[in-house]
Amino acid sequence: KSGFVAIIGRPNVGKSTFLNRVIGQKIAIMSDKPQTTRNKIQGVYTTDDAQIIFIDTPGIHKPKHKLGDFMVKVAQSALQEVDLILFMVNAVEGLGRGDEFIIERLKHVQTPVFLVINKIDEVHPDDLLPLIEQYRSLHAFAEVIPISALQGNNVETLLQQIKNYL
Ligand code: GDP
Ligand code: MG
Repeated sequence: KSGFVAIIGRPNVGKSTFLNRVIGQKIAIMSDKPQTTRNKIQGVYTTDDAQIIFIDTPGIHKPKHKLGDFMVKVAQSALQEVDLILFMVNAVEGLGRGDEFIIERLKHVQTPVFLVINKIDEVHPDDLLPLIEQYRSLHAFAEVIPISALQGNNVETLLQQIKNYL
């Protein structure tokens, strides 16, 4: 099994922390092809039975300038081409405008989206369910997976679920 997985989410939700944990020092460059802003490969996770190619999708965030609109369109078409999207959010900060902006962009994308709720090490379990419901009311997520990228909680489960979608 092999496939492309885009990790999106507003700044500081923990995208890099997650990738560092999963890829670690095994970060591999896949090809000699120049990396475009459309599909920037960030790392490849390889096991006996699967290869997950994680890519970054710049431009999916709320644009600061008018020029940004074009980048958002490019990002949207890039998301259309991957096998799976991980939408990472911050359990501590909860749903914000930055999240809503991204969810709005996902409306026109057919690719399955996992809601990855990160930093669960910092919230009370009772607060998690209302947060999940809030997000689920805005988009039909294929899976909802709470993790701690920092401490590693549930990261293996997430990887297993990703493999199921490749
Ligand atoms: P990015 O901007 O989405 O790439 O976010 P980073 O990976 O740079 O993380 C932003 C900050 O959140 C850093 O200080 C991380 O140490 C912290 N962070 C990331 N994941 C977790 C987590 O699971 N739990 C906690 N408590 N902090 C985290
Ligand atoms: Mg980062």
